[in-house]
Amino acid sequence: MGYLFMAAPTLILPERSHAIATDLRALLGPGKVKDDGPTLTAYAVDASIYRMTPKAVVLVESEEDIARTIEYAVARGIPLTPRAAGTNLTGSAIGSGIILDVSRLNRILELNREEKWARVQPGMVLAELNKQLARDGLMFGPDPSSGDMCKLGGMLANNSSGPHTLRYGAVRDNVQRMRMCLASGTWLDAQSYGLDDSALERLLSMIPALREIFVLVQTHADLIQARKPSVSKNSSGYNLFGLADGLAEGRFDLPKLLVGSEGTLGVMSEARLSLVDKPKATLTALIHLRHLQEVGEAVPRLLALAPSALEVMDANTLNLIGRAKHGVPAEAAATLLIELEADSFEVDLHERAEQMAAVCRSFTLASELTLAFDPEQREQLWKARKALYPTLYRFDPQKKPINFVDDVVVRAERISDLIQYLEEFFKEQRVPVAIFGHIGNGNAHIVPLLNVNDTSDFEKMVQAYHEIHSVVLDRFGGSICGEHGDGRIRAEYVKKMFGEELYNLFVQVKKAFDPGNILNPGIKLSDRPFTDHIDYTRLSKSCATCAKCNSVCPVYDVFQSEDMSARGWFEIVTAADYSYLNSKRVVESCLNCKSCRTICPAGVDVSELILKKRAEHPNRLAGWIFKWQANGTGFDSLLRRLGKTQQLWDRPWIRWIIEKVTRPVMAVLASTARLPHELLLPKLAVMHLRERYAGLIPTGSNQPQPNGVAYFHGCAANYFDDGVGDAVIGVLRKHGVEPALPPQRCSGTPIQTYGHQDLVREGARFNLESLAPYETVVTGCASCTLMLKDYPTLFAEGEERQQAEQLAKKVVHISEFAAHSPQQPPMGKTAGRTKCVTYHSSCHLRAAGVTKEPRKILSSLPGVNFAEMPDADRCAGGAGTFIVKDYDTAQNIFTRKARAVEQSGADVVATSCPACMIQLKNGLRDRVEVKHVAQLLHEAYEAADKS
Ligand SMILES: Cc1cc2nc3c(=O)[nH]c(=O)nc-3n(C[C@H](O)[C@H](O)[C@H](O)COP(=O)(O)OP(=O)(O)OC[C@H]3O[C@@H](n4cnc5c(N)ncnc54)[C@H](O)[C@@H]3O)c2cc1C
Ligand code: SF4
Ligand code: SF4
Repeated sequence: MGYLFMAAPTLILPERSHAIATDLRALLGPGKVKDDGPTLTAYAVDASIYRMTPKAVVLVESEEDIARTIEYAVARGIPLTPRAAGTNLTGSAIGSGIILDVSRLNRILELNREEKWARVQPGMVLAELNKQLARDGLMFGPDPSSGDMCKLGGMLANNSSGPHTLRYGAVRDNVQRMRMCLASGTWLDAQSYGLDDSALERLLSMIPALREIFVLVQTHADLIQARKPSVSKNSSGYNLFGLADGLAEGRFDLPKLLVGSEGTLGVMSEARLSLVDKPKATLTALIHLRHLQEVGEAVPRLLALAPSALEVMDANTLNLIGRAKHGVPAEAAATLLIELEADSFEVDLHERAEQMAAVCRSFTLASELTLAFDPEQREQLWKARKALYPTLYRFDPQKKPINFVDDVVVRAERISDLIQYLEEFFKEQRVPVAIFGHIGNGNAHIVPLLNVNDTSDFEKMVQAYHEIHSVVLDRFGGSICGEHGDGRIRAEYVKKMFGEELYNLFVQVKKAFDPGNILNPGIKLSDRPFTDHIDYTRLSKSCATCAKCNSVCPVYDVFQSEDMSARGWFEIVTAADYSYLNSKRVVESCLNCKSCRTICPAGVDVSELILKKRAEHPNRLAGWIFKWQANGTGFDSLLRRLGKTQQLWDRPWIRWIIEKVTRPVMAVLASTARLPHELLLPKLAVMHLRERYAGLIPTGSNQPQPNGVAYFHGCAANYFDDGVGDAVIGVLRKHGVEPALPPQRCSGTPIQTYGHQDLVREGARFNLESLAPYETVVTGCASCTLMLKDYPTLFAEGEERQQAEQLAKKVVHISEFAAHSPQQPPMGKTAGRTKCVTYHSSCHLRAAGVTKEPRKILSSLPGVNFAEMPDADRCAGGAGTFIVKDYDTAQNIFTRKARAVEQSGADVVATSCPACMIQLKNGLRDRVEVKHVAQLLHEAYEAADKS
C-alpha cells in the first residue's frame, strides 16, 4: 500500500527542473526536448478536467529515444507519462515530471493485406491509419468517437472502443502483438504464447516480472474469475481476467494485460493490429422514441438485427444540442442511432431497413425513421453524436460538461432503467445532464453540466461521483469504466469496484513491472480523491480541450508538438501568466487558416485569440507597407514597374542576390521570414486589373445600378497576371451581369495577420461605404470572401456593425454566384483530351461555408473527370504571406498536399483562391496545372461559344 502512494509524485525542486531538460537534451539531441514556459503550459492539459504542469517534454523519434528517456527517469526517480494525442478524458496523459510524447512515431511499418494485419507506430492518428488502409479495402475495427484526433498509442493504452464495438470489439480484441519498453529498460515483444512454447520459458527467464505475474494469475485464478465484471466491456483495473482466461485455454496472452494499462506498465513503440474488410455498404438510421421506457424493449429486438452500432441520446442531450438544429422532434424522449453493414454487394440493405421498420412499428415513434445510405448523409447523422461532448461547451458560459462519472457499463437490457435512474437523480440535484452512449453494449456516457467553481455544484459533483458509481456496481452489477480508462478520475474507485483482494493483485502487477512507480504514477491505482488537480480556471473557459482542432491544424501536422498546435495555443494565450515576449515563437506561428474555427464543436476561434495577442504587438514594417498601399499611389506604380522588369530580376542568380540583400529587412517581419530564391513568384501584372477594366469603375456618369453587382477583386487579382480577375469578370458577363469595380482597399486578412487591427478597421470602413450601394458583392478570393463576411466582428454594436452585417449577407464567392445563378450559360469541352481535375478546398472558403459549389461546377464541366483528392480540406500552407513569413514551414505543410494531389491522379488542381494558387504552383511546379475554378468555368463557356 505504502509503495504506490508514497512514491508519487516525486518532489522536484525548481532549479532541478531545468536540469532535467538539459540532461535530456544531452542524451537525445536538442530538437526533441522542450521545457520553455509555453510548451509546459500546452502540455499541462489533456481532454480531462485536470491540470498538471510537467518539468520537461520529450518528443521521441525512435525506440532508442524511448529507452534512454525511461532509463533517465528511472535512474533519477522522475515520474514519466507517455502521451499520444492527449484526448483522454481521465487525466492520464498529464503528469508532474517528464511527458514522453510519441506523436512523431506515426507510420505504418508493415501491412500484410492477405493476412489482414498492420504493424503501426503509436503516434499514428486512427483516421490517418484508416485513410491509408481504405486503399486496400481494409480498416481497424475499434472506432472511438475521437477517431479524427486520437492516436493508436492512447487507444491501446486505454483499451478504447466506440460505436462499432458491437461488431468489431474493443481494441483489446484486435491487437496481436506489442513492443514495449519496460521500466527495467528491457524491450518486451508481447504476444499470446502457447504454454508449451519454449519461447515463453525464455521470456519468463529473461523478464522476472512476467514470471511473477504468470504465477500470480495461476495462483489466484479463482479470485480473478469470481471478480470478473459481468458486462460486455470493461476498461477498469488491470485485465488479469484476460490473462486468466488465456491460461485456462493454454495461452499466456500478454497483450490482453498490456492493452488498457494506461502507460503504467511500459511505453509502447509499435503494435501489430488485426484488420477487417471495410463494409461494402452501410445503412445509418435514426429512431426517435416517444417513451424512454421503450428503449429497454427496443434494444434486444434491434440487437437481433445484428447491427454494427446501436447508440442512444436521451431527451436532455437532445435538448442541449438543439432539437431543431438536428431535426429531432420535440416529442422524442430518446433517439437511437443504428447502423447495419453489408459485407457483400449481394446483401440488400433496403430489405434490412424494412425489417428495422417492422421492429419499430411495435413502438411509439415521435417521427418517421430517418434512413441514410449515402456516405455524406450518414456522416451528417453521426456528426452531432461524435462531437457531442465538446458541443455541450456551448450551452452555458459557466456550467460546463464535466467528465467524472462518464463511462459506466451495465447489461444492455438494463440501460433504460439506468437512464431513468440517472434522469431522476440529476432532476433531484437540479443539474442539467447529457446521457448518451453505446447502448448496444450497455455503456452510458453521463455528462452533467456544472460550475465546479461554485461550492454547491462542486458538492453535487462529489455526491454524484460516489452515489452513481456505487449504484452502478451494487444495484446494476455493472462496471465504472467501459472504454475511457481509470486515469486519475476513477483510480480512487478501482478498489471499490474490484475489492481489496483483487486490488492488491493489481498493486503487485504494477510493482512487478515498475518497482519505482515511475511510469504514470497516480493513474489507475491511487487513494487520492478524484478532485485533486482539477483545473478550476480552465473549466470556466470556452475550450473543451478535445483536440479536434489539432487534427486539422497544419502547424501541428508538421511539428507534432502540443506547443505548436491550435489547442496548445488556446492554453498558452489564455494562461494567466501569458506574455508575448515569452510566447512570441508560438503566437507568430499560426497561419490564420481558420481550420480550427471551422471544426471546433464548442465554437472557439483560436486564430482570433492569437490575432488579438498579435494586435498588442503589431509588426511595424508590415504596418508601414499596408499604410503605403492604402494611402499612396506609389505602391501601385512600384508594382507596375516591377511587373515590367520581372523578366530581368526574376532570374535565379538575381533572385539569389535579392534573397541575401533583403534578409535584414525580412527579419523585421519575422525571424523566419525571407524571400527565397527558389520561390516561384506569381507574374506581376504590367497593367493592373483596374486599368484593364477601367470602364467598369464607377464614375460620375457611371453610378451603381439598382440590383448592381460589384466585383471585389482584392489585391492578388488586381496586381498579379494570374488570369483570375479576367475569368471572374468573364464568367459574370456570361451570366448576363456587367460588374462594377468600385474603389476598394485590401479586405484586411493579411493586415490582421500582422496585428494592425486599426488599419483593418479603417480599410473595412472604406469598403463598407464603397460596397454599400450594390445588391451583390462577388469575390474570387477565399480570404476576401471570409473577411468581408467577418466584418461585423470588427465593430461594436451600432450603425457600423449593422452596415457590416448587411454587407456580410451580400457577399458571394464567384463559385456560389455561378452555381446558383438562374441563368446557366452553355458549356463546351475545351480542346485536347479529357482532363482529370481535382479540387483544393481553400481554408477560408470552407470557413465561409462554401464547399459544395466549386465541386458542383467542376463536376459539371464537359471534358472533365472530377476526382476528389484525399485531404482536399487540409491547408496547403501558403496562407497569404505565410509563404514568405516562414517558407520552410509552409513547404513542410505542403508535403501532405503534394501527396494528395499525386494520389488523385489529376492533371489540373482547381482552387478558389489566388493566394492558394501561388502555393500550389510553387509546390507542384509544372507537374500539375493549377487553375482557379472561375478560369475553368470561363474556359468552358468560351468553348461553347466556339463550338
Ligand atoms: C470528443 C471525445 C470523444 C471521445 N470518444 C471516445 C470513444 O468513443 N471511445 C473511447 O474509448 N474513448 C473516447 N474518448 C477518449 C479518448 O479519445 C480515447 O481514450 C483515446 O483512445 C485516447 O487516445 P490519445 O491518443 O488521445 O491518448 P492520450 O490521451 O495521449 O493517452 C491516453 C493514455 O495512453 C497512454 N499512452 C499513450 N501513448 C502510449 C504509449 N506509446 N505507450 C504507453 N502508453 C501510452 C497515456 O499515458 C495515457 O495513459 C473521447 C475523447 C473525446 C475528447
Ligand atoms: S478549440 Fe475547440 S476544437 Fe480545439 S480543443 Fe478547444 S473545444 Fe476542442
Ligand atoms: S488558424 Fe490554422 S494554423 Fe492557426 S491555430 Fe487554427 S488551424 Fe492552426
